[in-house]
Amino acid sequence: MLGGYLGKVLRVNLTEGTITSETVSPAVLRVYIGGTGLGIFFLYNEVPAGVTPFSPDNRLVFCTGPLTGSGVPGSGNYSVVTRSPLSGFAVSAQSNGHFGAVLKKAGFDAIIFQGASLVPVYLYINNGQAFLQDAQEVWGKETFETETFLIEKHRIVGMPKPRVACIGPAGENMVLYAGIENEMGHLAASGGVGAVMGSKKLKAVVVLGNGRVPVNPGTQDEFRAAIRKWAGDAKEGGLGATVDRLGSAGLFEAYYQNGWVPVKNLAETKFPAHERFDGVYLRQNFPGKRNSCYACPMDHCRRMTIPNGKYAGMVVEEPEYEDLAGWGSNVGNDDPAAAFYLTDLTDRLGLDLKEATFLVSLLMECYEKGLLTAKDLDGLQLDWGNIEAIAELLKRIAGLEGVGEHLAGGVVKAARWIGKEAPRFAVYVKRGYAPHVHDLRTKWGAIFTQAISQMGSQQGIDLTNKAAPDIGIDQPVGFSAEGIPRAEAMTGRKRQLEDCLGVCYFVCRGPGGLNHYIQALNALTGWDMSVEEALTVGERVINLLRLFNIRFGHTVDDDSVSPRLLEPPKDGPGAGKSLAPWFNQMRRTYYESMGWDPDSGHPLPETLDRLGIKL
Ligand code: SF4
Repeated sequence: MLGGYLGKVLRVNLTEGTITSETVSPAVLRVYIGGTGLGIFFLYNEVPAGVTPFSPDNRLVFCTGPLTGSGVPGSGNYSVVTRSPLSGFAVSAQSNGHFGAVLKKAGFDAIIFQGASLVPVYLYINNGQAFLQDAQEVWGKETFETETFLIEKHRIVGMPKPRVACIGPAGENMVLYAGIENEMGHLAASGGVGAVMGSKKLKAVVVLGNGRVPVNPGTQDEFRAAIRKWAGDAKEGGLGATVDRLGSAGLFEAYYQNGWVPVKNLAETKFPAHERFDGVYLRQNFPGKRNSCYACPMDHCRRMTIPNGKYAGMVVEEPEYEDLAGWGSNVGNDDPAAAFYLTDLTDRLGLDLKEATFLVSLLMECYEKGLLTAKDLDGLQLDWGNIEAIAELLKRIAGLEGVGEHLAGGVVKAARWIGKEAPRFAVYVKRGYAPHVHDLRTKWGAIFTQAISQMGSQQGIDLTNKAAPDIGIDQPVGFSAEGIPRAEAMTGRKRQLEDCLGVCYFVCRGPGGLNHYIQALNALTGWDMSVEEALTVGERVINLLRLFNIRFGHTVDDDSVSPRLLEPPKDGPGAGKSLAPWFNQMRRTYYESMGWDPDSGHPLPETLDRLGIKL
């Protein structure tokens, strides 16, 4: 058997209530590896044109990678791949924690769900055996309650704790930006993967396993050495060192000084409370306990207690930078504890925070400017920083109650519902997808990455301010309309490769970069993959995602950003700079660099031939 793989994929037909197991050929594994790659391989081959996101014929694929569960740093990761109800295109959402590792230890590399159950069910997997179970007793419960209930129900003395991935009320009600939650605060958030799970009446997946991920017998010493080297490297260098010391909240102050922190739906740039949202302040003032993901050497994820004030005694997962920006500066809230509370609530309801914050900030701007009144909002007064009103709104959205019904379709649909100037204020990419929670107007690399992302708003490698020597880019590209799309064609291959391996984004950011994970991959599997072959896997996956999206009507206009994201910031490092005059030419340059037709954005036949993709 190939090292790194268990060699089994579960297929669960929810209409028929049947479960079967199948294998994937080593040749397919070598060219798509796992994670997003293997997920889009299944999706592309099994979801023909005409299948709507909520059709039973759509697939929901939980996919690990070969490194998942292997003991390399941060290897509890899994991807969920499906046709997104939010964008209509492919989505791949990643989550860390332990769930992915335990799915492998329970004997499976991936699960393909198809069909739809008539009644709520969950899938229970215990060391190679899988069963569908009645989910009536957890249907209607929030995510954390569901998780706790199912862990206690399936706990077996002498076995490691069961791990649960589940949806909350947002997923059950098919809110288009519902995510899938695991381990009290990790979310496969993007693109409505939780809504597709809800459409199949699948409440949860419970995994219990104590097996081992096999290592290629001839290279076990090399694999152990690669793990040691990687574990040290992951904590070195800018991002890794900061995340290890202070969590991703440690990025807040630097991002603010760079003009990257979103303030009030990007209508403003100043946030006087910025220092209180940075990791230095938070780790001094909010006591916490390490709660790292599977095999992760980083002191990043933590459970923390709010020591005083209105939310005193609440125990929450330490929020990430994007949570703090989303429920802090972006909604005019200057109390970090209130941002913790809203982050916790978002996770419990099972909502994607990116979409939720840019939706709420849009409503707040419209409320301030008189486009909406409390009467339109079930009496809620959506002034900037009104935490109770935000919390109530989120509950109504997840429960599809009152005004929540108009807001369950995300930012773009809400802007159309409000009407007048609202579509001009909305923050989104790809004609309907909230981006990562930054003021992207001063992050040209990141805005461009998300505009052309094939799987929703992928967090790319932004070279506006830094270089990527491991792929031959020795200088930052800055605000260069020529340099950014060419750099994206190179970095995109690397990012997509990372999403195939089954490890966390943060542990791949060390100075050793690419070389560490290719060494580990080769030692684990017994392959002899060169850097170029590995990057070609990333390129192949981008192209297959692109073909899937074209099947569902993707055009050049879908590679775009909203008018608000093209407005120049009034001040700060990006003052006066706008992508607007350059965007179309950048998109064309990117298509050419990718071997795609510069007018249609379709991959050229010779590109597909080179990648071995047959139409
Ligand atoms: S870096 Fe953080 S999110 Fe990533 S695996 Fe480690 S603890 Fe989890």
